[in-house]
Amino acid sequence: MANFVPTVCVGCGLLCDDVEVKVEGGKIVSTLHTCARGEWTLRRAHSNSRLTSPLIKKNGKLVKASFEDALSRATEILSEAERPLLWGWSSASVEAQRLGILLAQRLGGVIDSTSSICHGSSILAGREAGFRTATLGEVKNRADLIVYWGSDPSHSHPRHLSRYTIIPRGIYTQMGYEQKQLVIVDVRKSRTGKIANQILEVEPNKDYELISAMRMVLKGKNIRDKEVAGIPVKVINQVIQTWKTRQFGVIFVGLGLSMSRGKYRNIEVLYKLVQELNDFTRFVAIPMAGHYNMVGFNQVATWLTGHPLGIDASRGNIYSNPGETTGTEIIMRDEFDAMLVVASDPISTMPLPIARKIARKPLVVVDCLETPTTKIADVVLPAAMTGVEVEGTAYRIDSVPIRLKKFLEPCGDCKSDEEILSLLLSKIEKLGKK
Ligand code: SF4
Repeated sequence: MANFVPTVCVGCGLLCDDVEVKVEGGKIVSTLHTCARGEWTLRRAHSNSRLTSPLIKKNGKLVKASFEDALSRATEILSEAERPLLWGWSSASVEAQRLGILLAQRLGGVIDSTSSICHGSSILAGREAGFRTATLGEVKNRADLIVYWGSDPSHSHPRHLSRYTIIPRGIYTQMGYEQKQLVIVDVRKSRTGKIANQILEVEPNKDYELISAMRMVLKGKNIRDKEVAGIPVKVINQVIQTWKTRQFGVIFVGLGLSMSRGKYRNIEVLYKLVQELNDFTRFVAIPMAGHYNMVGFNQVATWLTGHPLGIDASRGNIYSNPGETTGTEIIMRDEFDAMLVVASDPISTMPLPIARKIARKPLVVVDCLETPTTKIADVVLPAAMTGVEVEGTAYRIDSVPIRLKKFLEPCGDCKSDEEILSLLLSKIEKLGKK
C-alpha cells in the first residue's frame, strides 16, 4: 500500500510546499492539499498529450526520431540562424533558464520570457520607483490589511487566501479572519470580492487617476472633484485614513494594473503610494506572478546579465531595452530568423499576426505536452515534468527559491529541461559558433 509523499505543486507561482501525492503503479492516484488547478497540473504527467519521444519534421510531417538526431537538427537550425529568438522559460527550472541565457549568448540571439507580456512590467516599475516587498511568510504572520488590486486569486492562485492572507492565523495575527481586512480594487465584482470587507470598483483604465488621488489625500491635499475614477472622494479619504492605521498592509498587484491604460506606469505610481504609506505604517507590494517560475527567469537573467528580460546578445555585448528587445516586438518586426520555444505555447496564446510570423520560421520546441506550437515545429524535444519527474529550483511569487521534488520516473524518452539545454549548449559550443 503506497503512502503519501510530500512534494511541491507547480500549478502556479505560489509553489505550495505542503502538498502530498500518493503514487501506485507509477501513477498519481490521489493528492492532498492541492487545489483543483494543482491536481490537474500534477495529473498532466499521465495526460494523453504527453510527448514521449523526440520528433523531427520530414516531408512536412513530424516523425519520431532519436534524441541524438533531434538534437543535431535543433543545433543545425539554431546555429545557422543569425538572430535566433529563445522564448518561453516561465515554466522551466532555474537550472534550465541559466543554460538558456548562456545559449543565447553563445548563439548571438535574443532571449526573453513570457514575463515580458505579464509581470515583467512590475520589475520595470520597481526599477523606476523602488520596491518595498516582503515574503509570504511575513504576510501570513503580520499583515492585517490585504489588498488585491487588479487580481482575483480565487482564480489565479486558488490557495493564496487560505495559506497566506485572509484565513490563516499568524504569529501576530492570532485572530485570523476577524483581525484582518480584505480590500478588492477591480473594475468588476470578482469572485474574491464576495468575501471582501470593501470593494473599490474603479472605472476601467483609471487606476492611475485613483492611485494619484490616494497619494494626494495621503499628503493632506484637497481634491475638488466629488469622485475620482468612479470612487467618491469621501471613500478615498476613508480608505487612506484606514490604511494608515493598520499594522501591516500588503497590496497584491495583478495584471489588471499592467494590462490597462498606463501599463507599467500604473504599477510605478502604486509602488510610490506604498513607499509613502511607510511614513505611517509598514506597507509592501507583491506582484501576482502566474507561471510557477516566471520570477525565476527574471532573477536568473538579472544575476547573469544585469537585465531581467528582453536580453539581446546579437550585438556581441548584452543589450536590453524592453519594448525593443522583448519577444513580441522582435516577432512583430520580423527581426528573428529561427526560434527556440521552451515550455510555452505562443501559437495558441499570442495574437494571430504574431502566431503567423512564428509559423514562418524554423522552430525548435522543448516541452512536455503536445500543443499547437509543437504541432508546427521542425524539431520537438520532449521534456520531463519538473517537480514531478525531475528535480529543479523555482522562485515563488515573493522571490523565495523553492526546491522542487521528483516522485515519478520520466516517461518515454523524456529528459529534464536542464539536460536538454545542456546537450544543446555543448553541441553548439563544439561547433564553435559565437
Ligand atoms: S495554489 Fe497554485 S501551487 Fe498551490 S496547490 Fe493550487 S495550483 Fe498548486
